[in-house]
Amino acid sequence: MVRHLEPIRRLPDGTIKQVNPFSGTQVWTVPGRGNRPIASAAPAAHPITEARLGQYCSFCPARQYETPPEKSRLVRDGDDWRTLTGLLAEDLTATKAEFRRVPNLFEIMSVDYWEENHGYRPPAATVERRAAYLATPQGRAHVVRVARSKALASGIDPQKWESLPDDERLAWAHNFFDGGHDVVIARRHFVDGAETENQLASSGTLTPEEHYQYTRFTVDAMRDLYDFNPHVKYVAVFQNWLRPAGASFDHLHKQLVAIDEVGAAALREHDRVAANPGIYNEYAVNYAAEQGLVLAQNAGAIAFAGFGHRYPTLEVFSTSPSPSPWEQTDQQIRAVSDLVQACHAATGAEVATNEEWYHQPRGFAVPMPWRIMLKWRISTLAGFEGSTKINVNTISPFALHERVLGRMIELRRDGRIAPMRLDSECLVEKDPLRYLE
Ligand SMILES: [Zn+2]
Repeated sequence: MVRHLEPIRRLPDGTIKQVNPFSGTQVWTVPGRGNRPIASAAPAAHPITEARLGQYCSFCPARQYETPPEKSRLVRDGDDWRTLTGLLAEDLTATKAEFRRVPNLFEIMSVDYWEENHGYRPPAATVERRAAYLATPQGRAHVVRVARSKALASGIDPQKWESLPDDERLAWAHNFFDGGHDVVIARRHFVDGAETENQLASSGTLTPEEHYQYTRFTVDAMRDLYDFNPHVKYVAVFQNWLRPAGASFDHLHKQLVAIDEVGAAALREHDRVAANPGIYNEYAVNYAAEQGLVLAQNAGAIAFAGFGHRYPTLEVFSTSPSPSPWEQTDQQIRAVSDLVQACHAATGAEVATNEEWYHQPRGFAVPMPWRIMLKWRISTLAGFEGSTKINVNTISPFALHERVLGRMIELRRDGRIAPMRLDSECLVEKDPLRYLE
């Protein structure tokens, strides 16, 4: 039974109690706790060591032989962006990758998982690609080197590694040309012209055009992973930014994980949507508009300060009639990307965030719009939350709206975000999401 609680209730003392209409998450914002400055999660402002530029971390361009071989890369020639696939190790330095898609070295769901539980076998193209890559000396050296780091990180003794026969070494590279867990890595570690180590290149420091290309390249990878095998039910897409948000490196990247179940939260949401197909208009966008929480709008998307989230959350909804991002037009993807980039820019690169994509899973009969949430990982879950399942959030949706809107106005004035309507300029008519059409 779904109990229809008012999503946002204001108490006489200023406490704001929220219930998420989709997940049921309960959040209280207690007055007087929200004005604390947000501590930076970026590294200290030490001067950048010139000699380490391009190789600060394993995702940096000069260390591209430390990740498994690329599935694809996006290169730029002026306004022309091209996707290159099937490159050999010898080709990697011939072009500059703005974004690279590589298999995750440590997969959440391994190729073995798909093989043993679902009888997965690599298609001929994958087998051929692996053989072609291993056939060149540089390719083989690259694969063995990355396989070695994976083996050592998994506890294999370096001396034992030296004694392993070739086929046992290559077994560690089982997923290097295959699998359902990919990473999309941006080129820059720091912003252009950075002088100190805290000047990281985040989603918000990309130009709107770069951010769109990053988004579209990720959408392409998402569609591709649905084709990885017929047992894929969902492709989770997320971006962990900075260590408190779970990132291993302070280098911009997204992850995509194909999974064979949709998860309990998505099933619960499915049931709520089945009972009320218009719920995303009614309880997300219409409600946000009624509450004065809308931040920005363009021809294909709406952004608002979210409610009923454990962490302060900005939400961007696609208004397109196509629920699947890969079926949307370039303009529709661009619209979502522009608002997401603006949310990141207004948040600031020093705030740890999780960007989470949501879309209608394969096999779900109920339509769901494509939507992206940006969660500020500025607090740690404590015993109170654990024992009561009531989360105390220090920034209310209204305080979040005010804080982000102020930044968006400045960013738009400075030309750092794409053209968009802000706050009272937004024309949010009733039921602006068209996913039911
Ligand atoms: Zn890096």
